Amino acid sequence: MAASRWQEVSEEVGRLCDALEKVPEACECGDAESHLEGGCRCCHGHASAGTISPGRPHCGERIEQLRADLALLCEDFKRAAGPFHKEATGEGRGQLRRELLLVAGDLSRMMAALEDLDRAVVGFQRTCSLSDMKGVKRHAAALLVHCRKVDAELARSPFDAAEMEPEE
Ligand SMILES: [Zn+2]
Ligand SMILES: [Zn+2]
Repeated sequence: MAASRWQEVSEEVGRLCDALEKVPEACECGDAESHLEGGCRCCHGHASAGTISPGRPHCGERIEQLRADLALLCEDFKRAAGPFHKEATGEGRGQLRRELLLVAGDLSRMMAALEDLDRAVVGFQRTCSLSDMKGVKRHAAALLVHCRKVDAELARSPFDAAEMEPEE
């Protein structure tokens, strides 16, 4: 079976945040765009510049894509969680409701973190400053934390993330 949409989003968040974490903090050459990909002049020879990913779209485009995917995923989640919750009966129901609310909450925190990250990346692209890069790293870390929370919540919950599969 194909990986669920959540799995794809979760893996891409992991890759993006991992790449951003490895980007050196300071860029002296001022080429912010290349720096984000780990390939600017002053990054060259950096031990940590293992972030160039040939064939992958650039950071800004990846965030853009993630945003679209995450928005769709939230829609799918709402659509799938409603009936799932209705079918649950008895004691499990309150528990399930809490779990679904947790997931919904962390999904929307992911959306917010992604917005913050996007703003920070745009800011860094403009200024190429150390403080903006720190913002990028901080927001990427926050995004990853919320993403891992959703991972854990979905793994624990009887709710099947595959239910979020879009109807073809
Ligand atoms: Zn540089
Ligand atoms: Zn660089």
